[in-house]
Amino acid sequence: MLMGAESSGWGELDAADKARLADLLSRVEKKGADMLGYPCNQLFDYSELLPFLAYHMNNLGDPFAETNFGSNTHDFEREVISEYARLTHAPVDNMWGYVTNGGSEGNLYGLYLARELYPQGIVYYSEDTHYSVAKSLRLLGARSIMIRCQDNGEIDYADLFETLRIHRDTPPILFANIGTTMKGATDNVGRLRQILSELRLPGSYIHVDAALSGMILPFVDDPVPWDFAAGADSISTSGHKMIGSPLPCGIVIAKRNHVERIARSVEYVGVLDTTITGSRNAFCPLLLWYAMKRLGFEAMQKVIARCLKYADYAISEFERRGIPAWRNKNSITVVFPRPTDALIAKWQIAPYGDIGHLITMPHVTRTMIDRFVKDYVCHPPTGLVRCPVGGPGARAKTTSSELSLENEK
Ligand SMILES: *Cc1c(COP(=O)(O)O)cnc(C)c1O
Repeated sequence: MLMGAESSGWGELDAADKARLADLLSRVEKKGADMLGYPCNQLFDYSELLPFLAYHMNNLGDPFAETNFGSNTHDFEREVISEYARLTHAPVDNMWGYVTNGGSEGNLYGLYLARELYPQGIVYYSEDTHYSVAKSLRLLGARSIMIRCQDNGEIDYADLFETLRIHRDTPPILFANIGTTMKGATDNVGRLRQILSELRLPGSYIHVDAALSGMILPFVDDPVPWDFAAGADSISTSGHKMIGSPLPCGIVIAKRNHVERIARSVEYVGVLDTTITGSRNAFCPLLLWYAMKRLGFEAMQKVIARCLKYADYAISEFERRGIPAWRNKNSITVVFPRPTDALIAKWQIAPYGDIGHLITMPHVTRTMIDRFVKDYVCHPPTGLVRCPVGGPGARAKTTSSELSLENEK
């Protein structure tokens, strides 16, 4: 609530503190513009929503159930969930979800549901799975087994098959990656379902971690089978990654019959306690609703196509200089040999072992790519083995004649 300073007890900031805020603003402006290694879209305009920051809103409880706490955005949250459920082919009469604090919470939720349904179940996840998942498994006290990856970051189906076969008396909970953090690799959910049915395993569950690519694959022509149509039981995605948002957020969708089996009602707030936290952010559902209204399906298709084109552009610029760079199909994550520490800091690159990546998010321009590649070539990592053009990394790329970036900044 907007207030007079007197009744609130809030005094004015002194000059030094005001200067600190100004410094912070310029630091954030500068860092945001140079962000090449993290998948946080910096292109958005939510200024129309600023008036809502003057109020406390709280989405505690299940967005699909009644509550006696009125200052919420549950109606907007439901629209966001319905829209994402539609994009992921969730069964219309059997879907449920809520807006989370990010992809990690959605993954925790999916694993929580699965563990409640199959208390003895074993969680299988690939070695390239996001680091937060091991922690969530410990939180839940769930049994788990790590599965090998192929070189491109996709789960090794043969290793999974063998491991499942050895444990065929225990319900499997498969944790699938749709866009791994480091290599943008996607596990084929259709193939996971097929493996489960070949082995005739008892009850099973597939949770899909689609933090970044969950907002890419709905907008491309030929995605790998990955969503509810392919056999997912729950899907988590991040809101601040592909869509872009000033606050971290995400969406989790699950089949409603799973959720109903574990829902508990709480008298104090008159809500169904189906979500992980009590009080929940009410502003983020509004942000996502607003972005979905202003972007729309065709606009997203164009944004994604441009990101993919820029990823190919980055690959061809690396390759032209003999540096092996590559990406997975429908991924905007471009992988190359790990840069020097100085470059990692300057460009906010996330390194892992001997690789680094850049991610051609919507705010990434051709100029940024050119500057980075030039910087990389001038300060190459030690031991870099250059390859001939079209060498080992040349996967899933278009030819440079298909790249027409001339009209873009
Ligand atoms: C970023 C990421 C996460 C975590 O999502 P947050 O929104 O940061 O919580 C989980 N899985 C993958 C594959 C990611 O890339």
